[in-house]
Amino acid sequence: MEFTGLKQQYQLLRNDIDAGIRRVLDHGQYIMGPEVAELEAQLAAYCGARHCVTVSSGTEALLISLMALGVQAGDEVITTPFSFIATAEAIVLAGARPVFADVERATGNLDPARIARRIGARTRAIMPVSLYGQPADMDAINGIARRHGLAVIEDGAQSFGASYHGQRSGNLSTIGCTSFFPSKPLGCYGDGGAIFTSDDDLARAMREIRVHGQSERYCHTRLGVGGRMDTLQCAVVLAKLPGFDDEIAARRRVAAAYDRCFASRVETLGGAEASAWAQYTIVPPRREPVQAALTAAGIPSVVHYPQPIHRQPAYLRYDDVACPVAELLAQRVLSLPMGPHLSQADVARVASTVLAALDA
Ligand SMILES: *Cc1c(COP(=O)(O)O)cnc(C)c1O
Repeated sequence: MEFTGLKQQYQLLRNDIDAGIRRVLDHGQYIMGPEVAELEAQLAAYCGARHCVTVSSGTEALLISLMALGVQAGDEVITTPFSFIATAEAIVLAGARPVFADVERATGNLDPARIARRIGARTRAIMPVSLYGQPADMDAINGIARRHGLAVIEDGAQSFGASYHGQRSGNLSTIGCTSFFPSKPLGCYGDGGAIFTSDDDLARAMREIRVHGQSERYCHTRLGVGGRMDTLQCAVVLAKLPGFDDEIAARRRVAAAYDRCFASRVETLGGAEASAWAQYTIVPPRREPVQAALTAAGIPSVVHYPQPIHRQPAYLRYDDVACPVAELLAQRVLSLPMGPHLSQADVARVASTVLAALDA
């Protein structure tokens, strides 16, 4: 059993993906070729944002967003400790200090109730993560940001394709970022990412920062990075986009099947109807026996993430706050195989293996 089903996906989409790649090889515009603008137009329309700026990775999307907002040394950005390291890493790379607020027990997402007490004179922005594909509580977070004059950057690296109150993830706040890392819900075959905003000035800044702060050729009006997404990777995403909504629907069917198997017998994390289901994650009382039983049965499982960011050696110096909910979840979460490739029988086999391990 595969964890994400990328091989099956390629077999299904092979003709379109191969043709898209061949077109790029034929025209030879490997950097900023026509597929880049085409993908940006399609993704902006998909999200409902005025602008989409493709970039070289999800991490770079976060960094470029912070730079476009003017976040710099001395500033603070409030974020979640229960995420992939890139979320806080981008804040540090921008020169600012990550300030951690604990997460909700039920979703693992940044808890709006804990944000306010961490806001200070140096706070510039809030960076929630839509963990495992489920959007954070963006209405509450946007409300807090509005009252304090802060920007909100949604780290939607795991949630492209999710919705929240009828709006797409990526278009839920000042800026939304996503990643096309191969195993994300919408992946390319290397590194890639995108930024969404409906603010014209921010979009222009992001486009300049993406190419070394260049406003005209060889005129560098601001500090930038080398952050473009390859034309070839844009062609891969373009080939996958037409079938993407069907894949999200298939992920939701797989999640619903897991839910039926686990109903009230195993705790699960998150799981709103409109999640993109990047991961299906359980919270068993003890993780090790469950993971061992899955491994013995030839079923892959992954821990996202075994150590919260505020407890990582390189990050202790920024904020020594306690985040007990994130610490508890890091000890207990376990993500099961998830993707459109899974049959109902696959789900039943994974679930019965989990349940048997818990009963043992
Ligand atoms: C994957 C991920 C990133 C980084 O994306 P890359 O494209 O790998 O740089 C950032 N934040 C979260 C929450 C992620 O899951």
